[in-house]
Amino acid sequence: MSCSAVASAPGVHFDPFPSGDENGLRAMGSGDPACPKEMVHGPCGGVRDDGGCEVEGIACPFADATSPVAWAGPDARTESSITPPARWLLDVRIDDTLPRLEPWADRLRALDAVVLIGEHLDEPISIAPAVAARRCADIGLGALVTVTGRDRTAQQATHEVGAVVEAGAVGVHCVTGDHPRARFPDRPGSVRFGSDGVRIAALAASAGAGLVSVAESPAATPTAIRPGRLLEKERAGATMGVLNHAGGVVDLEAFAREVRRGGAQLPLAAPVPVITSRRAAEALMAFPGLVLPDGFAAAIVASDQPVTDGVEAAVTFAADLLGGHAYRSINLSGGASLPSVERIEVLVRIIESVEERVGPTAAPSPRQPAG
Ligand code: SF4
Repeated sequence: MSCSAVASAPGVHFDPFPSGDENGLRAMGSGDPACPKEMVHGPCGGVRDDGGCEVEGIACPFADATSPVAWAGPDARTESSITPPARWLLDVRIDDTLPRLEPWADRLRALDAVVLIGEHLDEPISIAPAVAARRCADIGLGALVTVTGRDRTAQQATHEVGAVVEAGAVGVHCVTGDHPRARFPDRPGSVRFGSDGVRIAALAASAGAGLVSVAESPAATPTAIRPGRLLEKERAGATMGVLNHAGGVVDLEAFAREVRRGGAQLPLAAPVPVITSRRAAEALMAFPGLVLPDGFAAAIVASDQPVTDGVEAAVTFAADLLGGHAYRSINLSGGASLPSVERIEVLVRIIESVEERVGPTAAPSPRQPAG
């Protein structure tokens, strides 16, 4: 693919996939051939504790890295690029019940909440990110819409990012994406990854996305380079880091301190699991590289009122995180065991209970160094 092919995509002004040596970007090169996602800016969050890939039987070539892969493109950081993110990210799936969320749009806006739309491998129906963005915009939902590099050439990713922004999304969540063989080893067919989360973040920033979020997995091997990866993502264009489950309050606050010590300024959203069924717990625990708070899932699995206890556990965890000094945003995430409307009802109940406990202004400014 040529530079000009990408540069001609609507709204996108920077090409992180150069075929020439403009801007000294050849250092990005092509991805590591030993990585089934062909990542340049690895590792992803799926590295197993023993250094194995999320796809069984492969050694992760990034597992022993002692420093993150440096972003070799232009430094996108500016004072104005660090915009205050939404206070609440709500993990919601697009399904046939989406139109029934319209009456919730004003309430979510008042709560400073946006829906986070994933590109999940187990979606009941597959919808392109730009279509999801349009459907959310049509009913007034603020949406942070995921674009992955999975099954997309670099050029297709470029166009998808531009289309998501044009569709009115609040922002683009930029991730490499899970490998299908990590979740469904017996699923036939092959898949190619044309880009990784870092390069998609550069595209989203170039396309003028209001919010450019990226993911990081603090508990995934090699843990020492995870804080530094967020600095490289920020340099590529990220304006928010959304963390995967990585233990309890103490663990997450320690990670935030390391991120600030490494120089990254971008606001961070802490992960709070919303587990209301055994199925939801099992779905979360199946991901390599994720660590739930001690006893969190087991208590809900053993409960005879899992919805009530799951909500209370999430409220307590979120209130403790917002009551500290490291996080001003929370990502309420977990298995989608409830239909969209019931799920929104539960999530709003959690938000209202947390706000009652900590107050809507208790969190620090996003530029304030973590405690
Ligand atoms: S764990 Fe991720 S980065 Fe490492 S080889 Fe597998 S897909 Fe690539």
